[in-house]
Amino acid sequence: MKQNKCSFCDTPECETNILIKGSNAFICDDCINRIHEILQFEFNNTERTGKNKLSFESMPKPEEIKSVLDKYVIGQDDAKKHLSVAVYNHYKRILHPSGDDDIEIEKSNVIMVGETGTGKTLLAQTIAKILKVPFAIVDATVLTEAGYVGEDVESILSRLLQVADYNVASAELGIVFIDELDKIARKSDNPSITRDVSGEGVQQAMLKLLEGAVVNVPPKGGRKHPEQKFIQVNTKNILFICGGAFDGIEKKIASRLNTRAIGYRTINDKNNIDKNNLMQYVSHVDLKSYGLIPEIIGRLPVLTCLQPLDRAALRRILTEPQNAIIKQYQKLFAIDNIKLEFDDEVLDYIVDKAIEFKLGARGLRSICENIMMDAMFEAPSKQERKLHITLKYVEEKAGKLTANKLHVA
Ligand code: ADP
Repeated sequence: MKQNKCSFCDTPECETNILIKGSNAFICDDCINRIHEILQFEFNNTERTGKNKLSFESMPKPEEIKSVLDKYVIGQDDAKKHLSVAVYNHYKRILHPSGDDDIEIEKSNVIMVGETGTGKTLLAQTIAKILKVPFAIVDATVLTEAGYVGEDVESILSRLLQVADYNVASAELGIVFIDELDKIARKSDNPSITRDVSGEGVQQAMLKLLEGAVVNVPPKGGRKHPEQKFIQVNTKNILFICGGAFDGIEKKIASRLNTRAIGYRTINDKNNIDKNNLMQYVSHVDLKSYGLIPEIIGRLPVLTCLQPLDRAALRRILTEPQNAIIKQYQKLFAIDNIKLEFDDEVLDYIVDKAIEFKLGARGLRSICENIMMDAMFEAPSKQERKLHITLKYVEEKAGKLTANKLHVA
């Protein structure tokens, strides 16, 4: 009788550990392993270096980008729309061959304003994941003007280079998320500061980066020094997404809306203003009043705001996103062959605690961690293959929970 053999390497079935039959072919375990390794290698390379075939034809359209964002981020429709369009336009500008009409499309760097823990970083991260381009997160608070203690603004690009495995061409198509931009706002209302080390100077230094220039980047980041070798990076095609909480900006928005209302808006307009959520009216003028210099504002043309997360949103964050916290715990337990279930009241309880401790979405994870610690410690050694978390169990575990005990990053 004719022996079955692997269609890839011709090894007969008797010499394989396992031979899998397809509709018209066979594959042995050895070939499966090899293919798996190749895929893993390719996948990692693409993930890390963005060496994917970024082409205009394969570029997802704004609606497609938003629908992927919807899988990971709850709510924030306005921000998602703005980001999807900005990113699409950005890559359109880079990837579409320019015509002969001399019209140059300008960069569409983005600024997102919203309370901390509302999803700004998550949105930027998800965008980078969709596009498979190098993505770096940097904190504006560590940056200082050249000559002062802290990091030079060019170190922003060191992170991007690292993520791109020092592949300059790949880094030059990447995305940088600059968090806490509000912390480098000009502090001119504080008379004791004669030289604004962390504010205006840094903003000035950031201008050329945002706009597009060839920048000397210290490969390891930190401070630049003369003996160091630099890597030249052109920022023309790097998309900058900035984020900040801009605490207190509502006051600036309110006063602008009021003056306008007296000026030329109708009384009706004024009455239509939702005073409980002034952030939605944020404009570039408010950013200027807050202390961003006009040149920086000019280089961040796309402005969008994130809404505070209400109870319903927090509840959805627990279970709905692709990487929802509850799904992550279920996966952790499933690896030990344990089916993990939660009563609905438990999820409500977790949300209540997050609200009580004023921790927002960031708190959800640490509350869950506290509640689940004992179960994660004990369950793997037990025989039961099912774990049902009830409100009673959670109240016992969380009884002594205080806001101070929770570590929220
Ligand atoms: P921000 O950058 O606005 O301070 P993050 O994006 O870092 O906030 O959010 C912190 C964590 O909270 C995220 O890791 C995510 O788990 C969760 N989170 C915040 N907002 C959302 C949201 N809108 N949808 C889903 N998860 C969210």
